[in-house]
Formats: sequence, structure tokens, C-alpha cells
Amino acid sequence: MHAMNLAENLAAVQQRIRAACQRVGRDADSVLLLPVTKSQPPEVVNAAAALGLSIFGENKVQEAKAKIPLCSDRLRWHFIGHLQTNKCRDAVELFEMIQSVDSLHLAQELNKRAEQAARRMPVLVEVNVAGERSKFGYAPERLLAELPALNALPRLEIRGLMTVPPWSPDPEKVRPHFRRLRELREQCEQILGAPLPHLSMGMSGDFEVAIEEGATIVRIGTALFGPRPPARRAAAADAGAAD
Ligand SMILES: *Cc1c(COP(=O)(O)O)cnc(C)c1O
Repeated sequence: MHAMNLAENLAAVQQRIRAACQRVGRDADSVLLLPVTKSQPPEVVNAAAALGLSIFGENKVQEAKAKIPLCSDRLRWHFIGHLQTNKCRDAVELFEMIQSVDSLHLAQELNKRAEQAARRMPVLVEVNVAGERSKFGYAPERLLAELPALNALPRLEIRGLMTVPPWSPDPEKVRPHFRRLRELREQCEQILGAPLPHLSMGMSGDFEVAIEEGATIVRIGTALFGPRPPARRAAAADAGAAD
């Protein structure tokens, strides 16, 4: 990926974010563009940082642990993938926010690790809005039932909800799922008696519709960085075969 393309892609995405905000009377500052750098090397992260981006998303703890020390140290990181309990300690060290809390068990482990690290951990709760078998995330009914227990964990700050809805080539088909997450947030706010500021929803193919439905964080990979390089595991396997 050439730095020039990255600058152009970023300008185009930012323009599309502004236009989507304008269509629904929102302030463009109310949407955080979270560049997703999974499978991208540190040089790409640093090129994006040089263009003014400062918060990045990663979906694997191992990859982030190797990459983050090679990137500018003024960057902040959000975790957006499925988190295993045995990676919570590293996650608490590496990330400013965990967007993908998907069970009470995981939340309890994060709470414990945050306490050991003497910090508070802002989190989003991931919701499987369409009940897809292949995806992680809370079923909406289960979230409503467990929300008080999640909220009682003293080291976690629940800041909102996140979802990865079913993919469709037609973003309008995804709109009802974004709307569902917004409605679920309202129900959660009523249970908690407190506002939940964030809705993390919308990716390269559908972020404008997500913004129209209230997204405050859009997680964008390919629209900024182009197609992802092949997975590291495949690259390692190739290297092994060559030996
Ligand atoms: C990869 C990923 C994204 C970004 O996807 P693009 O379609 O490349 O924009 C967003 N959210 C999550 C959870 C991801 O894993």
C-alpha cells in the first residue's frame, strides 16, 4: 500500500463520514473513525499515524503484542476480536478499550486482570444481533438479563455496544441490524439508569448506513488500507514449505 493511496483513501472515507453525518443532522465529530490494522505491518500503522490517526483497532492479541511495540508509542489501541480468557492479562496491558466483551465469564476475568493492573477498563459489549451461529456476541435477551451482573464488576466501565452484523453486498439490507443495536442500547440504558455513549458498528462496506443509524465508532480496514495481506499463518506455512 503506497502512502499516497492511503492519504487519498483516508480523505475519501472522511468525506463519506461527513456526508453521512450531514444527511441525518449529526456533527461529524460525533463519529470516531477506527482504522483496523489487523494483518497490516507496523509501517502501515505508522504511515496512518503520520496522517493524523491515533487510535487503531486490532483483533488478535498475539498479533497486537508483536506489532504495538514497533509502532509509534503515542498511539492508542482498541481490541475488536474474540478475546480468550487466557489473553486477558495481555489485553489489559495493550488496549485502551475492549470492544468485544461477549460473556459474563470473560468480563469477570477482565475485571480481575484490570484490578491486578490497578486500572479501570472501558468496554463495549458485543451483540450478535442476527443470532448467527458462526459469530460471537451476546444474544440480545441474554444481554438484557446479564447486564446488571456485568455492570456490577467494579473495574469495568460499560461504554456501549458493538456488533458485526451479517454481511451483505447491499448495505441497506444491514440497516435493520444497526437499528436493532440502537434500540437495544436504549433498553440497556433504561436498565442501567445511565447513558451508554457508544455504538460501534459499520465497516468498509456499510459504514455510511451505520452512521445514519447512530454509529459513534466505525471500524474500517479495507477502505483505508486496501485488501489485507494473506494471513501470517499462511505466510509461515509457505516459508516452511520452502525450507
Ligand atoms: C476486520 C474487521 C473490521 C474491518 O473490516 P473491513 O471490512 O476491512 O473494513 C471491522 N470490525 C471487525 C470486528 C473486524 O474484524
